[in-house]
Amino acid sequence: MTQTPEAERREHILRAAIRQGLLDPDQALLAAFIDLDAVAASVATLRAAFPSSVPTLHTFAAKANCLVPILRELRTHGMGCEVASPGELAQALAAGFPPDHIVFDSPAKTGAELEYALNLGITVNADNFQELARLDALIAARSTTSRIGVRVNPQVGGGGIEAMSTATSTSKFGIPHEDAGARQQLLDAYRERPWLTWVHAHVGSQGCPLDLMAEGVARVVEFAEEVNISLGRRQVTGIDIGGGLPVDFTSDRAPDFAAYTAHLHKRAPALFDGRYEVITEFGRSLLAKNGFTAAYVEYTKEAGGRPIAITHAGAQIATRTVFMPGAWPLRITAHGPDGALKHGQAVTQDIAGPCCFAGDLLARARPLPALTPGDLVVLLDTGAYYSSTPFHYNSLPDPAVHGVRITPDGHVRFHPLRPAETLEQVLARTGG
Ligand SMILES: *Cc1c(COP(=O)(O)O)cnc(C)c1O
Repeated sequence: MTQTPEAERREHILRAAIRQGLLDPDQALLAAFIDLDAVAASVATLRAAFPSSVPTLHTFAAKANCLVPILRELRTHGMGCEVASPGELAQALAAGFPPDHIVFDSPAKTGAELEYALNLGITVNADNFQELARLDALIAARSTTSRIGVRVNPQVGGGGIEAMSTATSTSKFGIPHEDAGARQQLLDAYRERPWLTWVHAHVGSQGCPLDLMAEGVARVVEFAEEVNISLGRRQVTGIDIGGGLPVDFTSDRAPDFAAYTAHLHKRAPALFDGRYEVITEFGRSLLAKNGFTAAYVEYTKEAGGRPIAITHAGAQIATRTVFMPGAWPLRITAHGPDGALKHGQAVTQDIAGPCCFAGDLLARARPLPALTPGDLVVLLDTGAYYSSTPFHYNSLPDPAVHGVRITPDGHVRFHPLRPAETLEQVLARTGG
């Protein structure tokens, strides 16, 4: 069987991790890996897809992988950071992002959080009219260098995953653009607030086709044009197009930033004609395919004629996959104790996690070579929204996350991104 270069690289990393003791059937049953070389390449691909003539700040959506060393790494590649909570804001600052490279986007910002952001000069996208009223009071009392925008819901409809679709007609995010009277109310909001110089949209995360995303961006670009024409001045100077480029969880095909910008060129040409600054907020598309998670098989059994492998990876690190298996399927590969890919005859089996509920399955009826205790399963494309965002069911500890670089001569070097949580830390977070 021939492997893709990506699969060969993963196997190379896995074997090194086992040799170096980062995976161990007694000590380290579960660990996640982020390929930092591949992250750098993804950032370069993102940059190359946008016209160099347009001043663009690419921010990384911290919720996709909030580990501070990852954020720091992205900063060294010249990125900014999009945050949506006080915790993410603290992580971005700890990672060393300058305030004017941070975008604060939560729908539930408190007055104190807004004040803090304005004092530092962090970019703020207001989610609703009540938040704008809060900003009025804060801005009357201080001068700020913050860029301030409004999140507009272009109401272009949802994609394939309802929970990820943020531009439906009834989405909780932003100010709806197409509701009766809303457009006029928005225009008035800009007219009354000369400091409102940005518009923001984020159409969805995963499951949204590129033309739907581009259509959403096109509507907010049109709105920006309408503001500037109707006010007779260039008040809106920047457009934040959000993130949401979907990831292919079925193959090693990388997210195609250039295909997305081609759609944007076609649907929203004014975005790139040089009159606007641009901010982007990609998350999953930069990290998902650059990480994998490995877990030992502890036991194997059979029930009702179905072989089942009980592994140490379950809902605690693959929460969405376990609870919404149809929307979030993961590719899984089977490896022997030395990390070598197993090649045996495929057997239809369930890949289960350690949690104490029946639905804790990473895959159902998945054809894979027969697994035995001491083997490993590898969950592909889990660099975003998986181990970095654990679920504390059954008081399972957060696993270690390791950064990886491979030297030109093939030597694998690991860099700690987050240590495995200790039992003492588990006790501490449960009031012990
Ligand atoms: C989640 C989110 C993003 C990132 O979405 P991805 O699908 O990970 O690219 C960007 N902007 C906002 C406002 C978000 O909520």
